[in-house]
Amino acid sequence: MKIILLGSPGAGKGTHCKRIVEKYGVAHLSSGDILRRERLDGTELGKKAQDFMDAGELVPDDIVIEMMLGAIKKSGPAGYILDGFPRTVIQADRLDNALSRAGEKIDIVLNLRITDEVVVSRITGRRSCPKCGAVYHIENLKPKQEGICDYDGSQLIQRPDDKPEVVTRRLEAYREQTVAVVGYYERTHTVYHIDANEPLENIIADVFGKLDSLVASQTCGSD
Ligand code: AMP
Repeated sequence: MKIILLGSPGAGKGTHCKRIVEKYGVAHLSSGDILRRERLDGTELGKKAQDFMDAGELVPDDIVIEMMLGAIKKSGPAGYILDGFPRTVIQADRLDNALSRAGEKIDIVLNLRITDEVVVSRITGRRSCPKCGAVYHIENLKPKQEGICDYDGSQLIQRPDDKPEVVTRRLEAYREQTVAVVGYYERTHTVYHIDANEPLENIIADVFGKLDSLVASQTCGSD
C-alpha cells in the first residue's frame, strides 16, 4: 500500500502515521524526520538543509526529492506512507514521474484539514526528544516526568522551528506552496479529506475505515 498523507504543519500527520504504520506495517517516510536525522548525523545534506529549516522555509526541491526517492527505493514490499512530502507541485510531479517509470502508483491520498488556531496551540506546546524523536505536548500529552523523555531519559526540547514566530512562517509556506499540492492530487488522484479538528480517536477511525476499504479492494483485485 502506497499512501500520501497531506496536511498543514501541526495537523497531526506524525501521530496518524504512527498508528497507520502499527496497523498496516508500511514504512513511515517522513521528510522532516529524515532531514532532522541528517542534521544530527552532521551530513552534507543536513548542513545544506539546516538554515532553511530553522527559518521555517522549505528546503530546496532538488535536495528533498533526491532524498525521498532514495528512501522510497529502500522501503520494503509492504509499501510506505509519505509524511511531509510532497510539499510543492514540483515535488509531486517528480514523484509521479519516478513512480510511473517504475510501473508504480500512489494508492491513496489523505488530506488532514485543520484551522490555524488549533495548529498554533498544538505546535507551540509541542516538546520533542532530540534523540529518539518522540513527541509530547505541555498540556495534552505530558511525559511521565516533566521535561524528560519517557523512552530514553533525554531532556526534551522545543524544536527551533516550533517557536511561535517560526510557526507563523511555516503556515505561510504551507499556504504559498503546499495548498497547491492538494489541488494537484485532486486533479490526478482521489483525495480523502479528513477533519483534523475532531478528537484523535474519531480521526483515526475515519482514516482506518478508508484504508481498510482500500486493502479489501486490493485483496479482491488480486483474487
Ligand atoms: P516537518 O517536520 O514535516 O514539519 O518538517 C520540518 C521542516 O523540514 C520544514 O519546515 C522544512 O524546512 C523541511 N521540510 C520537510 N519536508 C520538506 C519538503 N517535502 N520540502 C521542503 N522542505 C521540507
